Amino acid sequence: MKKKWLIGNWKMHGNLAANKALIASIRAELPELDEGAEMVVCPAFPYLYQLAELTRGTGIGVGVQNVSDHLQGAYTGETSPLMVKELGGSFAIIGHSERRQYQGENDGLMGRKALAAIDAGLIPVICVGETAEERDTGRTHDVLARQLDAAFGYIRTAHDKIVLAYEPRWAIGTGIAATPEIIQAEHEFLRHRVAIRDKDFAARLPIIYGGSVKSANAVSIFSMPDVDGGLIGSAALNATEFVSIYRELL
Ligand code: PEP
Repeated sequence: MKKKWLIGNWKMHGNLAANKALIASIRAELPELDEGAEMVVCPAFPYLYQLAELTRGTGIGVGVQNVSDHLQGAYTGETSPLMVKELGGSFAIIGHSERRQYQGENDGLMGRKALAAIDAGLIPVICVGETAEERDTGRTHDVLARQLDAAFGYIRTAHDKIVLAYEPRWAIGTGIAATPEIIQAEHEFLRHRVAIRDKDFAARLPIIYGGSVKSANAVSIFSMPDVDGGLIGSAALNATEFVSIYRELL
């Protein structure tokens, strides 16, 4: 059976005490992970090593919310994917819409970051998604195709360790998730688009959904055939919610 994924994006939240309490609560509610589903948490950079220590031996993976597109050099303020790897990270969210919106990240940069993450041995979680305006004007597929092609233009599909996340911008942090039908349609579109490059890879590729997923809507979203899991923002900061969403994957 294809593995399911639950990835928590903690954004710029947390502190040493709160992070420790959150992992302890997740572990108390869910002492053992299921073989069928991965769980990953992505804290802010300063807490990467703390989370690597807190999750050691638990099966919970740790990632970051961004990485540099370079492995080393004179790039003030940037963080190399090699450093993430050394400090215990295994995943890197790439191209999140908040980085596109506030840091001006573009498609090309996303592709280069995904490649640098892979070169450092991380699993990139590549985010694509349209704005409300792009959806309303019928451009969703053009946008998704452009973002996907930009990322996959840099990546050889021989890399098996990639997660693709469909995150419509209008659903992120708004409390209004896309409907299961919209999610299924866009995941199917993305999988077909990847299949043009490599059919087998497309079938294996985990495509997860992000945008206001809660325990209340998780079951209908995860029941869609092309949904392989979720990228969770605010609900990932609540252990009970996060664990309930995880259980809906199984
Ligand atoms: C996200 O930031 O990736 C996200 C999905 O956020 P939320 O679940 O809060 O909409």
